[in-house]
Amino acid sequence: MAEKRIHNFNAGPAALPLPVLKEARAEFLNYHGSGMSICEISHRSKWFDDVINDAVARTRRLLGLDDRYEVLFIQGGASLQFAMVPMNFLGPDDPADYVNTGTWATKAIKEAKALGKKVAVAASSEDDNFAYIPKSMALNPSAVYLHLTSNNTIKGTQWAEFPDTGAVPIVADMSSDFLSRPVPMERIGMIYAGAQKNIGPAGICMVIVRKDLLGRKVDGLPTMLRYTTYAEKNSLYNTPPCFAIYIVQLVLKWLEETVGGLAAMDEINRRKAKLLYQTIDLSGFYRGTAAADSRSLMNVTFRLPDEELEKKFVAEALAAGMGGLKGHRSVGGCRASIYNATGIEAIEALVDFMKDFEKRNG
Ligand SMILES: *Cc1c(COP(=O)(O)O)cnc(C)c1O
Repeated sequence: MAEKRIHNFNAGPAALPLPVLKEARAEFLNYHGSGMSICEISHRSKWFDDVINDAVARTRRLLGLDDRYEVLFIQGGASLQFAMVPMNFLGPDDPADYVNTGTWATKAIKEAKALGKKVAVAASSEDDNFAYIPKSMALNPSAVYLHLTSNNTIKGTQWAEFPDTGAVPIVADMSSDFLSRPVPMERIGMIYAGAQKNIGPAGICMVIVRKDLLGRKVDGLPTMLRYTTYAEKNSLYNTPPCFAIYIVQLVLKWLEETVGGLAAMDEINRRKAKLLYQTIDLSGFYRGTAAADSRSLMNVTFRLPDEELEKKFVAEALAAGMGGLKGHRSVGGCRASIYNATGIEAIEALVDFMKDFEKRNG
């Protein structure tokens, strides 16, 4: 009974790899011979040091980071990064560019503006309800950074490639596609990602930041809101959420050792998404909501002919062992979130169900 799990298409918190959950369960009462749970051990202990150092080392290997980058763990979710980024990188007269591709990007822009920063919207897809990724932008060459949301969790769009921004570093909110594919780090000044979509439980945000950006000194920031505090103390200035970081470490180990790295993960993710989009495209019943060239490999958004059918679809899918298919409340419809931990077998089950549902209701 305890082992009866469903195919989990939740947007976040979302599915975690089953081997990770099992490993955490197996060592929950006695972590590595300590006689204690990882939740009961000092964050200053050798045990936890090994956890956080291993997580950082694996992140570096997975993304191919050189020592120009810091890997940090910060609380407050991706939402706190909306504020910390402009706070740490922008003085009163420093400009920054933002691309508005949906709900999360809009929040990031709003937060920077609320801090009184000089931010410009270099491109936006608001004119079509954020159904596409802009093809061009009015980039300010003296911007300190260009902020973009690499995957738009709610609208179901994703940057197929990171844009060429010349000398302006990209700051990417990768909350919902972090470590789902390789990243061209030469364009990246910073990545941040709330863990609860693709790499762990809620409660921690991973930040990868280039040291030259950390060198930008903005005065008057509280200790806990400065990136340098985390960089100088290996993210252990204060007590971090140890359990969340531990699960992230196990997920990173799974990605590296079981999946075989980001190129392998990318290939699997592409296969998964293709299967689902093909099913949508070949039917006259389901309709994808994102522009074809902007579709997300992580969040597949689609509509049915009417809202009643959508309700029925979500309910019947759940009864058939597939959960989390209701679209975000702000857009309606259906959404299948198919992050790294969602296996191809889950997609196959969903596709079979979709075809059967269409036959019965189309
Ligand atoms: C979920 C999400 C957020 C918000 O993350 P929190 O950790 O809840 O603050 C921000 N950006 C993107 C792209 C997201 O998917």
